[in-house]
Amino acid sequence: MFDNLSDRLEKSFKLLKGQGKITEINVAETLKDIRRALLDADVNFKIAKKFTDDVKVKALGQDVLSAVKPGQMMVKIVKDELAELMGGTFADIKLENKPAVILMSGLQGSGKTTFSGKLANMLKSKKGRHPLLVACDVYRPAAIDQLKVLGEQIKVPVYTEEGNLDPVKIAKAAIQHAKANGNDVVIVDTAGRLAVDEQMMNEISAVKKAINPDEILFVVDSMTGQDAVNTAKEFNDRLDFDGVVLTKLDGDTRGGAALSIRAVVEKPIKFVGTGEKVDALDVFHPDRMADRILG
Ligand code: GDP
Repeated sequence: MFDNLSDRLEKSFKLLKGQGKITEINVAETLKDIRRALLDADVNFKIAKKFTDDVKVKALGQDVLSAVKPGQMMVKIVKDELAELMGGTFADIKLENKPAVILMSGLQGSGKTTFSGKLANMLKSKKGRHPLLVACDVYRPAAIDQLKVLGEQIKVPVYTEEGNLDPVKIAKAAIQHAKANGNDVVIVDTAGRLAVDEQMMNEISAVKKAINPDEILFVVDSMTGQDAVNTAKEFNDRLDFDGVVLTKLDGDTRGGAALSIRAVVEKPIKFVGTGEKVDALDVFHPDRMADRILG
């Protein structure tokens, strides 16, 4: 196994001790190490380069070498900068309206339906809300059944219209249903496809226009690495979403997609999925993700 970044930097700085302040030349090797760690974590190349350039400017201004553990100080600079780039602090979702309407977007298999159930469960058990789940994936009966099963499991009602192939009508009717039945959050699960296509984008744009959601969340599988960034960009260009949900972080991905997506679409990551079970959901902590990316 390789040393972690902290150990590697400690070693490279040991060789430099006694040379006084950090200079362009003696920091080059260190920055290469940092860039390698980012690339290993699947951070997009351009973003890794810009990041290390920014860190260089910060480090050059500081007397890192005179620190007792210069490597650790450098790691701290890098971690703080990474966390800052990924959002600094936790970004909440907008729930003021009654009902608050949340629209899910993302590719098929990204974890939209699972996340819809997790979010409903979290809002119900931790915030005392009364969510309604809405099945708008009209093409896949299995997806509707999956949401129904989830709803039963967490004891949250699920709105479906068997045989109706118009997601706009279903979504609008679901909001009326929520108003009539005291549901104060409406979570709309939509159809995804295996790749971005025009029909899917038109459909979800039409749903957005019809129901004017308080929050549009883009759900993405963190294991998809660089592809995640392109997908995020395409969805954001069309939907101007409010936040990102990174799923499957229980896998062995280092989570570089978090940094890349944030840098490319400039939207906060709000939640992370950490398993298949309905309670495997966390709010996003930029500092923890920075630790994970750097290894
Ligand atoms: P959708 O097509 O976007 O609605 O995706 P699904 O919610 O059906 O999820 C696709 C698959 O990913 C299912 O087998 C889920 O159990 C699984 N899944 C979703 N979220 C997570 C997660 O955070 N971790 C793991 N390990 N699996 C997940």
